[in-house]
Amino acid sequence: MQGLKYSTKIDPYKELCRFELNGGICNDTSCKSQHFRNIAVGDDELLVDLADIENVPEYHRDTYRDGLYEVIQDMRKNGIRDFTTVARGILKFRRMWEEKQNDKDATMTDV
Ligand SMILES: [Zn+2]
Repeated sequence: MQGLKYSTKIDPYKELCRFELNGGICNDTSCKSQHFRNIAVGDDELLVDLADIENVPEYHRDTYRDGLYEVIQDMRKNGIRDFTTVARGILKFRRMWEEKQNDKDATMTDV
């Protein structure tokens, strides 16, 4: 008999559905990406995976982690525990953070 254990992990080798990452709900039955509804809710470890800190340059990690922590605390304070919303918040933070880094780099090379 197969274990009834419920997997709470994102499959790191499978892409998250782009459509859902952009705030939509995917109704494409042939879509092979991972969807938020298939991922267990409320797993902090999972959110860390999503934050993708491994891809952040080491010298930026502390500020990144602090900012991310703030975002998550903020959502908790506002009673947001829904995984999809939290995941989107994290991705939004990540995007903003990357843009900020790019801006910094751009101004540095401009001068
Ligand atoms: Zn999809």
